[in-house]
Amino acid sequence: MNAFKKGVFVGQGLPMNRRQNVILITVDSLRASHLGCLGYSKPTTPNIDALAKKGVLFSQAFSNGGGSATSFPTIMTSTYASMNISSDIYNAFWIKLSRKWLSVAEVLKNEGFSTAAFKNFKDDLCSIFGYNRGFDVFDEVIHFGDTRVDKACTKLRYLLGRKFVRANEINKKAISWCSNQRDGFFLWLHYMDAHLPYLPRKLSISSRVQAIKLGQKMYSNSNQMTQKEIESVIDLYDAELKYLDAQIGDLLNKLMKLGITPDNTFFVFVSDHGDQFMEHGEWGHGRLYDEVLHVPLLICGPTIKHDTIIPQQISLLDVAPTIIHLLGLEKPETFCGLSLLPLVDGVKNKNNYVISEEIGQDYSCRTQNWKYIRHDKSDTYELYNLQVDSTEKLNVAYDYPEIVEELDKIIDSHLEMGTRLTQSVNVCEPDFSDKEKELLKNVQLKDENFVSKVIGVPRKQYKTGKKSLPVS
Ligand SMILES: [Zn+2]
Repeated sequence: MNAFKKGVFVGQGLPMNRRQNVILITVDSLRASHLGCLGYSKPTTPNIDALAKKGVLFSQAFSNGGGSATSFPTIMTSTYASMNISSDIYNAFWIKLSRKWLSVAEVLKNEGFSTAAFKNFKDDLCSIFGYNRGFDVFDEVIHFGDTRVDKACTKLRYLLGRKFVRANEINKKAISWCSNQRDGFFLWLHYMDAHLPYLPRKLSISSRVQAIKLGQKMYSNSNQMTQKEIESVIDLYDAELKYLDAQIGDLLNKLMKLGITPDNTFFVFVSDHGDQFMEHGEWGHGRLYDEVLHVPLLICGPTIKHDTIIPQQISLLDVAPTIIHLLGLEKPETFCGLSLLPLVDGVKNKNNYVISEEIGQDYSCRTQNWKYIRHDKSDTYELYNLQVDSTEKLNVAYDYPEIVEELDKIIDSHLEMGTRLTQSVNVCEPDFSDKEKELLKNVQLKDENFVSKVIGVPRKQYKTGKKSLPVS
């Protein structure tokens, strides 16, 4: 029975006669360590920091995937990417949401909410992969083009600093939609401004040329980059964050003028993953180190405590259940995560570990003390003692075989559980249409070059002599 329809309070949720809104703001490639509210020394994010002050900040939030395609199934459906593999999957970059699992948008639409998504020029989150499910309005531009003209257009957009649709344009559409809404809506905004390539808007022509050259070196010759060049790239990233943050501030101001504020609307702000800045010899994302997995997550709105930081380790699996709980709705059975609201009242998180996936190739299991990464393609693995090595530099897999074994089993059980759940639901998964297959033809090729570099030490036979250390 649906508690929302009965007008019953559930946790901190509200009854039906006071419908409220949820605005889910997702920022691509926003690493936690570059936000002021999470300790960054430079003033990159004053508006996001101010929003955090008005609500609850989860300072140890981790993504369940190293890229958008593996992280967003979790954010939107509270399942793992590996539970969304259907026969028509193409590769780890392109994952279609399984119809077996409800998305948060579908749940809210079924409850009568108006729903809209303004989500940029973002192919892996397009309607082909099921992200439009549950949305009345789903604004997208699909661009898989790989012809010479497409490539020339892409290059021109980069040169003009318009790599993706900019935040101000997303905001314009969002404000226009919001101005026609009554209470009871769910809005998803996805921003790409922090995503590679880092080409801030207001650069002089010479600085832009310099930034493009640096970008080329990042892809072609990153090992030859000097420390100064690396720092210059990070400065470009920070400049992108400043722009994005200003746009978030602008969005909040314009929403306030429409009467949409944290007094009547829940704001959930989160990133799908961060980016690597050569800490492990690479740029970008797709790996499962903390610079990629550690993300900001903050929630504010009516009934939410102000200026509160929750330092417990949590994952994005809990985002959708929390949204449902905020609105006083019952969690769908298909959601694997739990609401985070009890943690705000001091309840200890029941999950001792976070599983992250780059399906078919890499999996990680993170506890408070340990981080285990397993590379299935190369049969190698890594273990880091986070208590003394938070930057994951010293692979101690051979020193702690018991921990490796224990965390390895957790990943196996996790995958088995996913398979069991997936097999227990019998839903017809429509294949891609011929037109979609044609569009996807080019992107299949990208997988062949991905993760050719072998990372970690080879798996070896060992005898465990030590007493097993507790995983906490
Ligand atoms: Zn992403």
